Amino acid sequence: MKAAVLEGVGKLRFRDDYPVPQIGGTEVLIRVEACGLCATDIKMYKGEYTGRLPVVAGHEFTGVVENIGGGVKNIRPGDRVVVDPNESCCACADCKTARSTFCRDMAAYGVFTDGGFAQYAKADERGVYKIPDSLPPAAACFVEPVSCAVRGIDRAHIKAGDTVAVLGAGTMGQLLIQLAANSGAARVVSIDPLGWKLELSKAHGATDTVDASATDTQAKVAEITGGRGADVVFEAVGSVQAFETALALAARGGTVVQFGFAPEGARAQIVPFEILSKELTIAGSWLNPYTFERAIKALASGIVTTQRLITDRLPLGELEQGIQKAMRRPEGFIKAVVFPDLQE
Ligand SMILES: [Zn+2]
Ligand SMILES: [Zn+2]
Repeated sequence: MKAAVLEGVGKLRFRDDYPVPQIGGTEVLIRVEACGLCATDIKMYKGEYTGRLPVVAGHEFTGVVENIGGGVKNIRPGDRVVVDPNESCCACADCKTARSTFCRDMAAYGVFTDGGFAQYAKADERGVYKIPDSLPPAAACFVEPVSCAVRGIDRAHIKAGDTVAVLGAGTMGQLLIQLAANSGAARVVSIDPLGWKLELSKAHGATDTVDASATDTQAKVAEITGGRGADVVFEAVGSVQAFETALALAARGGTVVQFGFAPEGARAQIVPFEILSKELTIAGSWLNPYTFERAIKALASGIVTTQRLITDRLPLGELEQGIQKAMRRPEGFIKAVVFPDLQE
């Protein structure tokens, strides 16, 4: 089969002789219809995040079930499905105490196990979810990122009438904006240095936008909120500076959700007095425990849309060009999706 194999740092090889995965037991063979290119794939390509090498990367995939192992109970050939790459072991102490997000034995499709940048992928039934026909492949490959955003929303505890600020208007920022706008927030403030991304934020439900390149972000958010600050602030950039800004933007009694993938080991400056005197809650949001079903429903119902987030549609053979483009981040680029059957 055709597959894009990450063989080493910066070494992606397109192969048309890669073996189709063998299945047995509770495993499911899936013909991949679409697989999103995520920042994690790019981090692996650049060597900033290590999984197993060589590996077929890509963890945001959807497709049609081609075959099932003898032990599979709930999935049938022909089912349209998505796969939770963070399928946990269900057996460790964390899994058994409803904290599967900390499971040390996850499948990690596309990182430690072959993923979706191929014509076929396999997964254990445990991580396979059926999707409705109303969800086309281009939207279904967003279930995984949406499931992570749903976790972020859960961690934020948004109350009706709240003002929610979202730092960063990339793919994840845009998903958080849409979910926040549907979670009772009266105002959703999108903050980013790029004007064209802020326009997209408005289309996705942001009531206010702040151009971080032109204005004093804190002063502008104070102006929007009558001096109070935001009840909930999402850091969806993944930088130390954005985390520090997030703390400054939060209202008294507010919640800051660290959602962006900050570099491991990076340290931020914080003022403990501000945390106690403002009674701030700082919440981390890690992966997507128990949120896959809700992500499917959020996408199928249309409260989250993805049409304007897919800016590049690629055949498998052009994945590397897609990665290069994602690293350059030219104007207008949000997210690339690979369609293995797309004609080159
Ligand atoms: Zn991802
Ligand atoms: Zn576990």
